[in-house]
Amino acid sequence: MKHNNAMFHEIARRIANFVFGGTCYLCRGAAEAAPNEGLLCAACDADLPRLGAELCPRCALDTPGSAICGRCLARPPHYDATVAALAYRFPADVLVQALKFRGELALAPLLGRLLAERVGGTARVQFVVPVPLSPARLAERGHNQALEIARHVARATGARLAPELCERVRDTPAQTGLEWSARAKNVRGAFRAAGLVAGAAIAVLDDVMTTGATLDEIARTLKQAGAATVVNWVVARTAPPAERGVGPVLPQESA
Ligand SMILES: [Zn+2]
Ligand SMILES: [Zn+2]
Repeated sequence: MKHNNAMFHEIARRIANFVFGGTCYLCRGAAEAAPNEGLLCAACDADLPRLGAELCPRCALDTPGSAICGRCLARPPHYDATVAALAYRFPADVLVQALKFRGELALAPLLGRLLAERVGGTARVQFVVPVPLSPARLAERGHNQALEIARHVARATGARLAPELCERVRDTPAQTGLEWSARAKNVRGAFRAAGLVAGAAIAVLDDVMTTGATLDEIARTLKQAGAATVVNWVVARTAPPAERGVGPVLPQESA
């Protein structure tokens, strides 16, 4: 496992060097070979907006003393916990969007490593399930960014990559144009759990968590099918609306 891991990272690094020429993806300075896949220089890697320590264990938003936040107390989500690596702001948003919309798959190992670092050795998870895309959206985009990231996180954490455990049965309009309150309604009934879900400890992985509506609906679906625990593993977390200013265009969740 260790050996495979090292070999895999070396291959990923070589591909990245080939694609990006060993220059930092963000500042075009010289990229470091390790530990960051030859994609970022040490300074840019250190400057990534990693989330702080005082986060709500349930939803990963800032909360004093890592207590469960007011939102989660008022309306407990179906998921049990959320682990998020980065704040969804520059330059994390650039990296996430380049993977999602421009298909720069060489960024998947980098985002996967950042998330795996945050998950750490505490993960007691059997299955990693990437948030599924509808077949139509998958065909349009050509890849599922959550799946690409999940490959690396599963490998790093020793959990089994199990995209087959959750499928999208209903296409939904993109979440981007919707108000926060409309997002939950938009994804209701959009997923189906399949296979060996009963009694399982599952991590659902996505690139960005915004309102959490999609992840909440998946957790509801998996729990209904008998999953014992469902946690979210997300690369980047957005701030709640109050901290985002007026009239923002919310980033794309995996609608
Ligand atoms: Zn740099
Ligand atoms: Zn919370």
